[in-house]
Amino acid sequence: MSIKIERPSTDIKEDIYLLAIIKGLGITFKHLVSSIFKPRKLPIVEYPEQQKQFPAGYRGKHRLTKREDGSVRCVACYMCATACPAECIHIVAEEVTDPTVEKAPARFDIDLLECVFCGMCVEACPVDAIRMDSGIYSFTDFNRKDFVITKEELMAVKPQGMPD
Ligand code: SF4
Ligand code: SF4
Repeated sequence: MSIKIERPSTDIKEDIYLLAIIKGLGITFKHLVSSIFKPRKLPIVEYPEQQKQFPAGYRGKHRLTKREDGSVRCVACYMCATACPAECIHIVAEEVTDPTVEKAPARFDIDLLECVFCGMCVEACPVDAIRMDSGIYSFTDFNRKDFVITKEELMAVKPQGMPD
């Protein structure tokens, strides 16, 4: 069964869009004048000399969190790799001597060129071992393989606001 949707009636002014066009041009002109005479008011970040601080929920480069003894918090459960829609997390698990921990990652790689920064890995982790709170959003390199970040590199990344 088809449903007929009634269109709201319009008058001639709305039909020719004249008022809307004039209004739009007025706003554009206002911004043009303001950017010429008050350039300091423009929301410009002089990147890369200036770096933007992002809010707490911003998803930047990943990091692996550590326990108090400095060991990796990850227990190699593969939940993040399973949840990852881009299939860009590669984990190899290993047994550990600590009886309170079942496993740990011998390898934990993320391919940043495949990652879509959705944050599903962070949501899936049961032990808060992976976070995206580094505030690092700009990655440049010369080779594709250098965008694959290893466990050691992920453990070395600090949360936003921490000194290097
Ligand atoms: S942010 Fe999304 S795409 Fe990137 S590693 Fe995590 S789950 Fe995968
Ligand atoms: S980061 Fe979290 S979800 Fe991923 S393997 Fe380690 S413990 Fe499991």
